[in-house]
Amino acid sequence: MQTSPTLPANVQASSHSLPSYLQADNLGPWGTYLQQVDRVEPYLGHLSRWLETLKRPKRALIVDVPIQLDNGTVAHFEGYRVQHNTSRGPGKGGVRFHQDVTLSEVMALSAWMSIKNAAVNVPFGGAKGGIRVNPKLLSMGELERITRRYTSEIGIIIGPTKDIPAPDVNTNEQVMAWMMDTYSMNEGSTATGVVTGKPVDLGGSLGRREATGRGVFTVGCEAAAHIGLDVTTARIAVQGFGNVGGIAAKLFAQAGARVVAVQDHGGTIFREAGLDVDRLLAHVARVGSVAGFEHAEVLSPDAFWDVPCDILIPAALEGQITAANAGRIQARMVIEGANGPTTPQADDILNERNILVLPDVIANAGGVTVSYFEWVQDFSSFFWSEDEINARLVRVMREAFAGVWQVAQDHKVSLRTATFIVACKRILHAREMRGLYP
Ligand code: GLU
Repeated sequence: MQTSPTLPANVQASSHSLPSYLQADNLGPWGTYLQQVDRVEPYLGHLSRWLETLKRPKRALIVDVPIQLDNGTVAHFEGYRVQHNTSRGPGKGGVRFHQDVTLSEVMALSAWMSIKNAAVNVPFGGAKGGIRVNPKLLSMGELERITRRYTSEIGIIIGPTKDIPAPDVNTNEQVMAWMMDTYSMNEGSTATGVVTGKPVDLGGSLGRREATGRGVFTVGCEAAAHIGLDVTTARIAVQGFGNVGGIAAKLFAQAGARVVAVQDHGGTIFREAGLDVDRLLAHVARVGSVAGFEHAEVLSPDAFWDVPCDILIPAALEGQITAANAGRIQARMVIEGANGPTTPQADDILNERNILVLPDVIANAGGVTVSYFEWVQDFSSFFWSEDEINARLVRVMREAFAGVWQVAQDHKVSLRTATFIVACKRILHAREMRGLYP
């Protein structure tokens, strides 16, 4: 380790070298995030003195989540809630249930929430949570018990003005209803604003379920106009056909685009003339995956990356577009519906190949934007119409995208770096105005 000539070694260690779990010595999501954040430093002017703030989470909680299984035994699961930054407001971000969830992944996801919330200028910091569990192997009762115990455990750091969870991979309105109820029962009063993405009858917002996909579609159309791509005739390939990919595909198809390929955890399907998206959505709702859909050809999973298309929408998990497949992608534009789907090396390859990447931190910000509307509605107990929500969502996304596009032109940087520049400036300006205390 390098030591400073002016500081004692212990001071040097605590102020300049990252704790081991924060170091980018792996290719995982936290390493990806650190590389992305390093790229903005030259553009931050005097605010760069605060950049270190963004390279470590403010707070990370690891919890043990024991539950009684249906067979009577007790099983323990590992849960996390990470608050990356709260300079601009309470922590905000989803909770995912997945067998591969790790602390480092949740840290990266929480950091991307800080960037995303600042990029669309909603008054939140960034947070994220997760449980390392495969929820598909749990019964409904076990799912409820794991959700409630996890909520109780993280109850010491969440709250309507502290940190507000929401759905993410494998969590939904029902999980949010249990989280809201558990927190409320422990508090002794109903606190609808503790989570967003709730059922509409429990203080949820109209339009929230579709918001992320709608945001993907909105920024996709804005960007397409800039590069002369006609979405009404575009061919689309989508990875992940859940709440984000499914809705985005539906909106693009309604605009006239052809959804030619879809890949999910169960399989990869292709139809040159365009898949019937409504039928496919019904099939996935029934079967749980695109596998077995009759009106399409089956492709090998790897062949997905070679599909001729104009727009590729990765809307599943992190680290999908890598140096190994980025050279094969045929699209003119990639819209990141998922968080962190592209590795930094792949980002550079796509850039060199002149493929426009709409980064997650702006492209999938529609979900948290309507989460913000939900939170505001809960506080005021006054609810807006779906048209009003959608109109406000489109306005926020368009404005944010226009700002980021301009910064990218001004500095001749990628849209990802431009989004990070806009967001980091907002966060670090707030950080500086607040000052160090205590
Ligand atoms: N999980 C979503 C995301 O990654 C939404 C988070 C929220 O609404 O707080 O943006």
